[in-house]
Amino acid sequence: MQNNPAGVLLEAEGEHGAVDEFICRLAEEAPPLAVITGLTISDIPPTAGEGFAILASGVGASQVQIAPDSDVCPDCLRELFDPADRRYRYPFITCTNCGPRYSIITGIPYDRQNTTMARFPLCSACRAEYEEPANRRFHAQPNACPECGPQLRLLDGGGRALPGDPLATAIRLLQDGRIVAVKGIGGFHLAVNASNDVAVVELRRRKRRDEKPFALMVADLAAAAKIARLDPLEERLLSGVERPIVLLGKRPGHPIAPLVAPGNAYFGVMLPATPLQHLLLRDNFAALVMTSGNISDEPIAYDDNEALARLAGIADDFLTHNREIRTRSDDSVIRVFQGNPLFLRRSRGYVPRGITLPSLQPSVLAVGAELKGAICLTRGNQAFLSQHLGDLQNAATMQAFAETVSHLRQTLEIAPELLAHDLHPDYLSTGYALAYGDLPKLAVQHHHAHMASCMAEHCLEGETIGVIFDGTGYGSDGTIWGGEFLLGDYQGFQRKGFLCPVPQLGGDAAVREPFRIALSHLYLLYGAALFKLPLPFLDAIAATERPIYLTALERQINAPLTSSCGRLFDAVAVLLGLRSRIAYEGQAAMELEALAERATSDRVYPFTITEGEAGAILDFGPMLRELVAGVTAGAERELLARAFHNTVTAAVAEMCEIIRSGSRVNRVVLSGGVFQNKLLSEGVCTALAGREFQVYSQRLAPPNDGGVALGQAVIAGRRLKCV
Ligand code: ZN
Ligand code: ZN
Ligand code: FE
Repeated sequence: MQNNPAGVLLEAEGEHGAVDEFICRLAEEAPPLAVITGLTISDIPPTAGEGFAILASGVGASQVQIAPDSDVCPDCLRELFDPADRRYRYPFITCTNCGPRYSIITGIPYDRQNTTMARFPLCSACRAEYEEPANRRFHAQPNACPECGPQLRLLDGGGRALPGDPLATAIRLLQDGRIVAVKGIGGFHLAVNASNDVAVVELRRRKRRDEKPFALMVADLAAAAKIARLDPLEERLLSGVERPIVLLGKRPGHPIAPLVAPGNAYFGVMLPATPLQHLLLRDNFAALVMTSGNISDEPIAYDDNEALARLAGIADDFLTHNREIRTRSDDSVIRVFQGNPLFLRRSRGYVPRGITLPSLQPSVLAVGAELKGAICLTRGNQAFLSQHLGDLQNAATMQAFAETVSHLRQTLEIAPELLAHDLHPDYLSTGYALAYGDLPKLAVQHHHAHMASCMAEHCLEGETIGVIFDGTGYGSDGTIWGGEFLLGDYQGFQRKGFLCPVPQLGGDAAVREPFRIALSHLYLLYGAALFKLPLPFLDAIAATERPIYLTALERQINAPLTSSCGRLFDAVAVLLGLRSRIAYEGQAAMELEALAERATSDRVYPFTITEGEAGAILDFGPMLRELVAGVTAGAERELLARAFHNTVTAAVAEMCEIIRSGSRVNRVVLSGGVFQNKLLSEGVCTALAGREFQVYSQRLAPPNDGGVALGQAVIAGRRLKCV
C-alpha cells in the first residue's frame, strides 16, 4: 500500500475469492472518515509477497483530497472518560477515525511531518500503535498521548501561566462568570457560562456586539433538547462528525440568558467538536456561549500570540495548548429546510471536501464576492470551496483570503488555468484577481454565478430558470440587481424578469438604515405626501431631515436604482415597525420572517407584472399600499408579515409561469441570500412544485454570497473548455 498524489495504491495478493472479497469489503468497511471517490482495478503478476507494508509516500500528478476536521469518534470518547485508559482525560486523544485534519496540515502528502504535530516525536507506546496495522491508531498522523503529545496551558490576560490544573481551573473560572478564550479546531472561541446574565452582558459589551446572536455549545443531544426543539434531521446534523452550529427553535422555559439571542426565535447550537470541549462541557454546564474569538468583523484568532494580543480586552483568561492551528476556520452554520440542510455558512468540518461537478473541466481559481468571502479551486470534476473568510473590507480578512488561496493551491496541488471574479469593479476580490499574475481572467455576473452555483451542485445541464433573490449584486447594465429571474445555462443567461427598480436612497447607507429604502418605496407610491402617512417609523425622522430626503428622491441624488429583493424585505420590516436601523446583515429580514412564522394566513396581496422589451417587471407597489393600509388600520403585524411572504411566493410562481410559457423550460433553481429565509424557501418550493416545476435549492453550498465562488468556477471552466 502507498499514499501517492493520485490517491492510494493497493497491491493485494491471494486466492481469487479472497481478493474479490477484499475489494468488496474495502468499500463496505472503509473507516468513517474515508471517502472512496473511485476505484480502479487491474491485474498484475503475483510476486509471492507476504505480510502487509505501507511504502513511503510517492510523487506524481495530484488527485488528493484533504480530509476536513472531525469530531472525536465514539471509541476515543469512551477512552477519554475511562479512568483505566492511558489517555484518560487527555484533551488531544485521536485516531484514524477522528480528529483534526485540514486545520493542522502544512503540506502534502498527509504525513505527520506535514502537520503541526511534526514537533511532537512519538513515544514508544504511541509508535507501537502507529506501526501496528490492526491498531485503530495505525498511521494516525496526529496520534499522541500525555507522555509525548501537546499539553494544555491556562494563561491570564497578560500571557502568564496560571498555577494548577489548566482544565479544572478554567471550568472554575467559567463557573465564576469569567470570559475564557478557548482554543478550538479552527481558532479561538470566547466562552462564558450561558446561564449567567451578567457574564453574557459583559461579553456583548467587550466584543462590541449589541444584538447579533451568540452560538451555544452543549454537552450532548439530551442537553440540546433542554434548551431547544429538535427534529430527527437536526439531531443527525448536530451529532454528525462535522459538528456545525444548527439553528434550533428555542424551547419555552429554557435556562439560557435572554441576551444570548435577543429578539430571535432560534438558538445556534453545536455539540463539542474536540476532546477539550467534551471535557469542558460534560457534567459542568447546561450550555456555554461559544462565539468566534474576534472583535466584530475581524477574522477569528487562531495563533496563541495573536489571540493574546487581539483578544486582550475581551477574554479574562486563555485556555490554550501547544498544537498549532495552521489554517483557521470558523464554525459552519446550518438550518434545516424541508428535510434538507441549508447552509448559512459552510466552513469547519466540511472544508475542503470536494463538491462533484457535472463534468470534467480545466482548473479554475474563483475568488468569490466580498461580504462573505470564500474562494473555489477546481480539479477535474471536483470543486473545492474554501472555508468562510468573512468581509474582505477588513484588512486582516483580506490577508487571510490571500493566504487561503496559496495554501489551498499548494496542498491540493492545483495550478489554475483561468481566474474567475465578480463583475463588480470595486470588490476587493476583483482587485485581487486583476493583480494576480498573468493568468487569463473572466468577469462573471453576480446573479449568474449564484444560479450556476445551485445548478452545479445538482449537476444540472442545459437551460434552467434561475430565481435569484439577494441583497446587492453588480448588474450587467451597471445598476444594482438583486431580484432577478434569469434564463440560461453555464455559458450565458438572459434577464427575463426583475423586481421593479427603486431608488436606493443614500446608496450603501440604505443597507444599514433600511428606513431609507422604505422612504423610497413610499415616495414612488405617495410622492411628497408620504410624510403625512400615519406610520410609526416616520415619527422618528426629524422634520429638518425630511426635505433633504425628499430632494434626494426628487432629483435622484445618491439614489442609485436597485431591483434588490433583500431591500424589499428591509422596507417591509420598516413599514411594519420592526426596526429602522440594523446592527448586523440580514437582521430586519430575519425578524420579519420570525414575525410571519407566528401567524397563519392564506391572504395574498395584489402585485403587477408588466412584460416589456427588457423583460417582465414585477411591481409590488399594490402590495405595499395594502400593507400601509393594514398598519394604519392597526391590523396584526404577524398577519401582515405572513401575507407579505405569501405574496412574494405567489409572484415568483407567476413569473416562472411566464418564463416557462416563453421557453418551455421547466426547471427552476433558487439562490441568493434571501433564500436563507426558510418560510419563503418552503413557500416557493411548494408553490412551484404544485405547478409541476422541478425545483432545486442549495444544499451543499450556501445560497448567500458564500456560494458565489462555486458558480464562478463552473462558468469559467465551461468558457475555457469552449474556447
Ligand atoms: Zn478516534
Ligand atoms: Zn505517546
Ligand atoms: Fe449575492
